[in-house]
Amino acid sequence: MNIGTQAVQIGLEWDTRTGAVSVPVYQTATFRHPGLGQSTGYDYSRSGNPTRQALEDGIARLDGAARGFAYSSGMAAIANLLLLFKSGDHIIVTEDLYGGTCRLFDKVFNQFGLSFSYVDTSDTAAVRAALQPSTKAVFVETLTNPLLKFADLPAISAICKENRLLLIADNTFLTPYLLRPLDQGADIAVYSATKYLAGHNDTVAGLVTVKAPALAERVYFHQNSVGATLGPQDSWLVIRGMKTLSVRLDRHQENAQKIATWLASHPRITKVYYPGLSEHPDHDLMKRNARGFGAMIAFEVDNHALVEQVLLKTGLISFAESLGGVESLITFPEVQTHADIPPELRARLGINNVLLRLSVGIEDAEDLIADLKQALEG
Ligand SMILES: *Cc1c(COP(=O)(O)O)cnc(C)c1O
Repeated sequence: MNIGTQAVQIGLEWDTRTGAVSVPVYQTATFRHPGLGQSTGYDYSRSGNPTRQALEDGIARLDGAARGFAYSSGMAAIANLLLLFKSGDHIIVTEDLYGGTCRLFDKVFNQFGLSFSYVDTSDTAAVRAALQPSTKAVFVETLTNPLLKFADLPAISAICKENRLLLIADNTFLTPYLLRPLDQGADIAVYSATKYLAGHNDTVAGLVTVKAPALAERVYFHQNSVGATLGPQDSWLVIRGMKTLSVRLDRHQENAQKIATWLASHPRITKVYYPGLSEHPDHDLMKRNARGFGAMIAFEVDNHALVEQVLLKTGLISFAESLGGVESLITFPEVQTHADIPPELRARLGINNVLLRLSVGIEDAEDLIADLKQALEG
């Protein structure tokens, strides 16, 4: 069944007693036991809650996973996955990485003896060259933040299989609608559901999907042990958002293609990063391996003063962090989302003082272009 259809169906048949079409919000901490040594399947909401489970089953189905897990944020989800490793383990990581993930790796988990090497994971030779005897996993963003490099998952997965490494894919920018990482060799996919999955800039949530049942059991053990689970109200909001995933993403992408094309022709714009443009280095690979190019655009203006002008003068487009919601947002990665990336690495990657990142929403494309035009030329 089409992913969009499956997303609409999430939770639909959950409440067999009343037939409620929308899954109920089970706002309860605990559950009555029918008898000694008996359980309804639910005992305590950290261990399992029906609303959260409807979401967890839903994302598992969309990704073709054994199980899904819902967390209180994307960062909580990634932190939970790092508990699969132990002191001395080494992980190869996408260098062009969400700043919060970089901070979690380098300033939190490094204190527990994990080490991380940052490489360009769109270059499989670089991934191979970074292997060490203690390497246990490769962590990639399928489409990177903010420079929109596309990872060749089947190629990286081949290296992982050869060396018995786990492949973990942060698929936040694409969602299962555009790419299913577990079908392309990843063992685990992780999402900041705050972004496209929930889709309305109204809730913070994280999701994980795991392909193999035995590995899923270990992840569940950590989810329950640590307890950074998603509450029932927020689980309901994510399900509600996910029902419109396909129509939103179709519109997001259609707008992004128009805006990227317009930006590329503007005299004050010196560079546009959008994989839907044929000159993007990963355009052909992404065309083969994904169902679309997403709706994130990064671009450079011709001088730093224009950065502030654009951030202050855009009106329809809000100057705010985050991405993937129906409302268009613009940010300045160097001092916002990517402030925690070491300055040398930032400079090498191209995250500089003229780079802006645009999360294209679902407003009318012409209105968005008019807003950018007056901000650039005003
Ligand atoms: C936002 C984001 C995260 C972190 O998720 P939160 O829900 O903000 O905790 C992780 N990875 C990527 C690619 C993100 O964009």
